[in-house]
Amino acid sequence: MLYSCRPNPAAHCPIFSHLKQCTQFHAQMIVNGVLFPSSLANLLAFLVDPDHGDYSYGLLLFRQVQNASSTYLWNTIIRGSSRNGRPTTSIDLYGELRVKGLRPDSHTFSFLFKACALALDLQFGKRGHGEAIRFGFESDTFIADSLIHMYSVFGRLDDAKRVFDGMVAKSVASWTSLVGVYAKVGLVDDARRLFDEMPERNVVSWTTMIRGYSECNREMEAMFCFREMMSVGVKPDSVALLSLLRMCARLQNLDLGKWVHQFAYKEGIEMNDRLAVSVIDMYSKCEDVYSARRVFNDMPRKNLVACNSIIDGYCKEGKVEDARLLFDQMPTKDLISFNSMIAGHVQSGQYKEAWTLFCDLRVTNLKPDSYTMVSLLSACANMGALDAGKIIHSFIIVNLIETDVFLGTSLLDMYAKCGRIHEAMLVFGSMTQKDVLAWTAIISGLAMHGRPKTALDHFAKMQRAGIKPNDITLVGVLTACSHGGLVEEGRLHFKQMQDTYLLTPKVEHYGCMVDLLGRAGRLKEAEELITSMPMEPDAIIWASLLAACRTHNNVFLAEMAAKKLLDLEPHKDAIYVILYNIYASMGKWYDASKTRERMENAGIKKECGRSSIMVHGGVHEFIAGDKTHPRFEQIQAMISEISRQLMVAGYVPITSDVLLDIDDEEKEHALFFHSEKMAVAFGLISLPANVPIHIMKNLRVCRDCHSALKSIAKVYNREIIIRDRSRFHHFRGGLCSCNDYW
Ligand code: ZN
Ligand code: ZN
Repeated sequence: MLYSCRPNPAAHCPIFSHLKQCTQFHAQMIVNGVLFPSSLANLLAFLVDPDHGDYSYGLLLFRQVQNASSTYLWNTIIRGSSRNGRPTTSIDLYGELRVKGLRPDSHTFSFLFKACALALDLQFGKRGHGEAIRFGFESDTFIADSLIHMYSVFGRLDDAKRVFDGMVAKSVASWTSLVGVYAKVGLVDDARRLFDEMPERNVVSWTTMIRGYSECNREMEAMFCFREMMSVGVKPDSVALLSLLRMCARLQNLDLGKWVHQFAYKEGIEMNDRLAVSVIDMYSKCEDVYSARRVFNDMPRKNLVACNSIIDGYCKEGKVEDARLLFDQMPTKDLISFNSMIAGHVQSGQYKEAWTLFCDLRVTNLKPDSYTMVSLLSACANMGALDAGKIIHSFIIVNLIETDVFLGTSLLDMYAKCGRIHEAMLVFGSMTQKDVLAWTAIISGLAMHGRPKTALDHFAKMQRAGIKPNDITLVGVLTACSHGGLVEEGRLHFKQMQDTYLLTPKVEHYGCMVDLLGRAGRLKEAEELITSMPMEPDAIIWASLLAACRTHNNVFLAEMAAKKLLDLEPHKDAIYVILYNIYASMGKWYDASKTRERMENAGIKKECGRSSIMVHGGVHEFIAGDKTHPRFEQIQAMISEISRQLMVAGYVPITSDVLLDIDDEEKEHALFFHSEKMAVAFGLISLPANVPIHIMKNLRVCRDCHSALKSIAKVYNREIIIRDRSRFHHFRGGLCSCNDYW
């Protein structure tokens, strides 16, 4: 067993060694008609003690006492209800007491205000405050303490100050609570001034001040305050350490966190469950799961919160296997455990495991929430698994899971990445609240799907809605301009990004601009932009320039770009091929053969093109030229049929991008066994005639496949949607949504 039950201290209680005995005792009293008020009060106090009592039985007992008129009894049950996590019952009981016309004493009010603080019922608290004044308890220190505490919970600085100022003798507790209110409303310097004025401070006052600093993320001052406390001889308790640890976790300050942990160890502060959990959480959040695990292993009674923290820590460090091992050992799990584990699987690309775990979760009596859904949707988006995504969507609807802006954005992103921009727009339209992430998702989705005009319309609407774009939004906007060939708009947005939104362009933004200028044939400007960049251009930038040079036949610039690209990515086979072809077209045979030699010497293998297609719920993956698919013969026959049909329709294969030294006929043959063509052939033979063919590809679609797919879409009257490395292509009626810009 990983964690066990708490031992029952009642078993060791000398007075009522057994609850059963105490029940019998009570029954006897009722039978004999002897109800000694003092024993009844003692019994009630024992029963409502949250550590070893039986609250429901206590409440029952209280109800049986006819005409309970002793304020002491009422106070006991009011206090007991709060301590048993039922503060609203305390408030109701106070109301009952008043209805009965009984007179509350100072304890009654003190317990009432504590209950109001716990139940977060400021309105009733204020009413109680008024009644306390009417009963003449205005200057009672005991009441004032709990009142200030209550107002501090609600951050009501003015109310707390008024009570404090009215106190004749100010207690340490009231000073401390007031310091707490100042810190809570963010006036931590005022809190400190008040703290310094205190005639006397105890460990709670120091802890309040430390917590004030911690919660404002002023870690240095929190630490100084902690040291100061020790230097004046106040020994910190675990509560002080808890707030420091929480701060370290939040700020991911591992050094400080370690120091606090070692301090607790050296000073012999008892490692109770709460403290141990905080230490574990601190280590996990600071990405030192090894230390977290050591503390965890030392815990005599493992608890769920600690387990969940460790799982989180493992997942954050990419140690999903370790996380799963612990997860599987847990005797009980809550939704947080499942959510962390599912997210962990998704983040490390283990989509199948995530999905299986979701199925496991559904047979428990836990209810998946929006966090579960967001993780699964992101898995579907990454896999392009539309069917699974739709299942999640209907699960959300059927189970009435609240679709907040976070979940809505994940949904629309899933549809966009699975090739369904129409559904993505429907989800977007139905969202009541839209933040910058939601707008960015729809703008990027529209850009990827070759809908530049609509993407820019959405960008304009977003600005009208007063939402400030971030740098990812601008990547979407510039991508839209680039895919749509909208040079002037692109330039304008690139300029506005800096002037209006004060965003510094990153290498991605320059990449979009180079792409935009290059596609439009403005190679000189693209080159100038690259030289003017404040940072080193990356491979993506040279690759877009190279692609543009090839489209617009600028061999000299292409040679330069290809060389730069080879320096950055010497293992990419495609670049050698391109450079070889550039030299060949220029008649530079010496350079051409040198390039080929270099490629052979480097032992470069061609990066495999992989395409996958979902058919009847199963994923079928095709690698160029691979013959291992069980239905390969039928696929081959279909490919021959397709090639015949395409030739009739006038399609001419583009052979210039293929391997170096085979003749044209072989090249044509090789082209037809590119992974996306095989996947399409398989789709044509296995899917019903009206179903669009969805394909995911790991690389960019080659020029020949692109032109062949346009023809296939027309000849077979089929919609084909391909998601390649950078965008979507919707082939319909002989055209592609990218307008041959890709
Ligand atoms: Zn191809
Ligand atoms: Zn296309």
